[in-house]
Amino acid sequence: MYLENTIFEMSRPGRKGYSLPPLDVPVQSLTDVLPLEQQRQSDYRFPEVSEGEVVRHFVRLSTLNYHIDKGFYPLGSCTMKYNPKVNEDMSRLDGFSGIHPFQDECTAQGALQLMYELSELLAEISGMDAVTLEPAAGAQGEYTGLMMMRAYHRDRGRSPSKIIVPDAAHGTNPASAALAGFKTVEVRSTEAGEVDLEMLRRLVDSDTAGIMLTNPNTLGIFESQITEMSRMLHEVDALLYMDGANLNALLGITRPGDMGFDVVHFNLHKTFTTPHGGGGPGSGPVGVRKELIPYLPTPTVAKKEDGSFAFDYDRPKSIGKVHSFYGNFGMFVRAYTYIRMMGPKGLRNVSETAILNANYLMKKLEPYFDVPFPRHCQHEFVLSADRQAKQGVRALDIAKALLDKGYHAPTIYFPLIVHECLMIEPTETTTKETLDTFADALIQIAKMAATEPEVVRQAPQHTPVTRLDEATAARKPILKYQFES
Ligand SMILES: *Cc1c(COP(=O)(O)O)cnc(C)c1O
Repeated sequence: MYLENTIFEMSRPGRKGYSLPPLDVPVQSLTDVLPLEQQRQSDYRFPEVSEGEVVRHFVRLSTLNYHIDKGFYPLGSCTMKYNPKVNEDMSRLDGFSGIHPFQDECTAQGALQLMYELSELLAEISGMDAVTLEPAAGAQGEYTGLMMMRAYHRDRGRSPSKIIVPDAAHGTNPASAALAGFKTVEVRSTEAGEVDLEMLRRLVDSDTAGIMLTNPNTLGIFESQITEMSRMLHEVDALLYMDGANLNALLGITRPGDMGFDVVHFNLHKTFTTPHGGGGPGSGPVGVRKELIPYLPTPTVAKKEDGSFAFDYDRPKSIGKVHSFYGNFGMFVRAYTYIRMMGPKGLRNVSETAILNANYLMKKLEPYFDVPFPRHCQHEFVLSADRQAKQGVRALDIAKALLDKGYHAPTIYFPLIVHECLMIEPTETTTKETLDTFADALIQIAKMAATEPEVVRQAPQHTPVTRLDEATAARKPILKYQFES
């Protein structure tokens, strides 16, 4: 349902946003220019509006949008943290923004050096031996990592078929495993919110190619048995894949490599402050231990003896290319800027603050919502709206009611193993005042759920678009301009 200030259908016959000078060339028949079969057969209809209306329309839409520069965005797992503006300045330097992928290497040394150094920095942060920057997203990083794991096993004359994935995993994990030709086997989480070690012991065998783990997992809990899991998997020559899309709890504190992981992907658009949620494109570099270096996608960036940099295409065991050219270069500039700006101490401070903020918020909310895993969390935590559901208000209703209070909703109904799940990640870039006012908003909603559940169920009332009929929105979406006739 649209409020008045978002009306789209503004067309009036004859209204124009342009004026053209009189034609000063001979009129040609359309068929001289375009063959008949390529000509439009029916009349077109565009909205007819004035220039002023067009400008106002798009500016109005841009102000209706919710984004990280507008307000708090506690989307668990997705790490919607503030994106520093200095990243944007650096990415717009002429030497970076004007570069062409076909340019001769000797004229692109700065860009190559940045890629080389960013790979080294990510390797250092994660405890890996080498990093490819090529994949364009977390999910593509997973696919790339799994293809390298497959190549690793094949090189050793093995073709194990199984990838173990916990039931709390991000949906991309089983999807990537399937795309890479593996079958996924699910391992359960315990009551304490960690991988069930006994069940894992039963699943690991000689047909196991590896396990995909997120640590801290998507419940916001650190897998305390990680070194034991690593021992178990490595004993049968299986590999450990770390879903490092969100490294916000680990920076400068511990490293996937030190926990025994062999492969890890990073989302530059989460941990490393490159834009996402409409601002992308993404970037999902992958780090590997030295045994897997031969399989990295081509090209890698090499540093030559004379100190210059070059692309290395001579990699016979590589899984090939996963992206045109070299990946999303503009994102490398932003992430590199962020890492260099923060430095080692600053990055550690990021994670310490992210963890502190999440625990602070969890404690404030604990009296009002069910906390399925009442223990220290890492950078995020999950609540359950089970208590509110009994009063007739579901997690979805709470998310909608938050919109009315001016906040983006948290992630809901994920991880799948938590009933009526609300998954909250405040990140380190949120002030105590915002944490407090956000907590107050959720507490007010919890109180309303007890006294006036029907009001919460009708939220949002104050957003440009109120509650949608989701079935109709999915089945009969309105995707283009609606003319009256
Ligand atoms: C976001 C996320 C992914 C997927 O990353 P994309 O860039 O969206 O493909 C995978 N795993 C986890 C834990 C994530 O949070």
